[in-house]
Amino acid sequence: MKQKFVMPGDQLSTSEELMPGDGTFEENGIIRAARIGTYVVDEKHRTAEVKPATSTPVLLKKGDIVIGRVVMAKEKMIIVEVKHVSGKPRSISSDTDATIHVKEIAQGFIKEASSEYKAEDYIRAKVIQVSPSVQLETKERNFGAILALCSKCRHPLIKKSHGLECENCGNKEHRRITEDYGNLDIQHL
Ligand SMILES: [Zn+2]
Repeated sequence: MKQKFVMPGDQLSTSEELMPGDGTFEENGIIRAARIGTYVVDEKHRTAEVKPATSTPVLLKKGDIVIGRVVMAKEKMIIVEVKHVSGKPRSISSDTDATIHVKEIAQGFIKEASSEYKAEDYIRAKVIQVSPSVQLETKERNFGAILALCSKCRHPLIKKSHGLECENCGNKEHRRITEDYGNLDIQHL
């Protein structure tokens, strides 16, 4: 079975070769994709189909900019669940875990990774390795936490001149943050 990532309007096949199936349409004898997804040929029924992007895991590439949620913060590394790849309309399969080594957090020396990011923070990072495991870095200024929650009451931390502060309980916390911290709508990346 051949598989290919396609965009709406992409030519898939012709009506002489195949029948237009789920997620496709035919126009002047050309079968085209009607949605973003994976082009699949059902050989048995001779139909062209496009499976929706939501069920298509994104393959990360070195250099990709990603948004992820911190799952766990340890002394030497941060474990991140990658949620979104910048500039790509595809969603990520839920089990795309990545790690940020303590040396990859900032340009300067960081003693403990867990002092910079904490569980449930949202971060922007760059992919520096994909195999055998996904590794990220946040050394540049536009990488780091884009949203962090108060570790006492779970309300979002607000950026103040002195650092991050919880508007609910007044707790002050440190994170390595991006310059646009707090300006992003996490639900609509
Ligand atoms: Zn709080």
